[in-house]
Amino acid sequence: MTDNAAPVALVSGGSRGIGRAVVLRLAAEGYDVGFCYQSNERAARVLEKEAGELGVRAMAVRADVTDSASVKEWVARTESDLGPIGVVVCSAGITRDNPLLLMSDEDWHSVLDTNLDGVYHVCRAVIFEMMKRKSGTIINLSSVAGVYGNATQSNYSASKAGIIGFSKALAKEVGRYNIRANVVAPGFIETDMTAELTDKVKKDAAKQIPLRRFGGADEVADLVAFLASDRAAYITGSVLQIDGGITI
Ligand code: NAP
Repeated sequence: MTDNAAPVALVSGGSRGIGRAVVLRLAAEGYDVGFCYQSNERAARVLEKEAGELGVRAMAVRADVTDSASVKEWVARTESDLGPIGVVVCSAGITRDNPLLLMSDEDWHSVLDTNLDGVYHVCRAVIFEMMKRKSGTIINLSSVAGVYGNATQSNYSASKAGIIGFSKALAKEVGRYNIRANVVAPGFIETDMTAELTDKVKKDAAKQIPLRRFGGADEVADLVAFLASDRAAYITGSVLQIDGGITI
């Protein structure tokens, strides 16, 4: 943790995958971390314990990012138990892949509701306190699909492109309050999300990646921790890709 950073970080979708790695990375840097999960309580409790063993306070709360009231309650509980939130990482996300021809309204709306509305709900819930304190940094997880589009992922790509537009607008709005907003856009990262892919798809994908492998969640967490720190004090409104070169 750096001198000027607030000591409390908030991570949505912290129970698994990239969010989990972020929770552990920020805890290792000395942040108290509040994170939410949707349904996997066991994973959340295990992580709460693991992060707590790093000598910081870790607090897992079940909160649904699609629900504004649920997010507000999570943020209020985190602030009251851990203190003012200085770092926010929005990692909660889902996929429901299908060609547009086969896309159901439910597939469309669940992805937009979780990935895009979820980011809006979390940022909306924290922004006023950050503006009052004139300090804060927000890191939203997009995807290379949000920059370049991905076949069979029109819903996911739209949600992730939306996160980029949202974050850039926010960076312009709140820069004068010393609040930074950035986007991390990963390529293929080894988590439960990509574990759903067939072995053939994974093999073919790896062949397209100049570094010839999927990334690790801890590698994404390193980038997030950098953006959260004062080492990134002059970076805002940026979209940083971490993709092994797949988009070159
Ligand atoms: P993951 O392993 O599937 O984990 C998803 C996390 O989001 C879980 O903690 C889950 O909670 C939480 N979550 C899902 N819906 C939620 C909701 N409505 N409310 C609260 N929490 C919710 O996913 P990941 O691979 O770590 O992905 C993290 C982020 O990176 C996502 O935004 C994803 O789009 C993005 N990303 C991932 C990749 C990749 O290759 N993995 C690539 C590019 C971008 P539960 O444990 O309770 O289910």
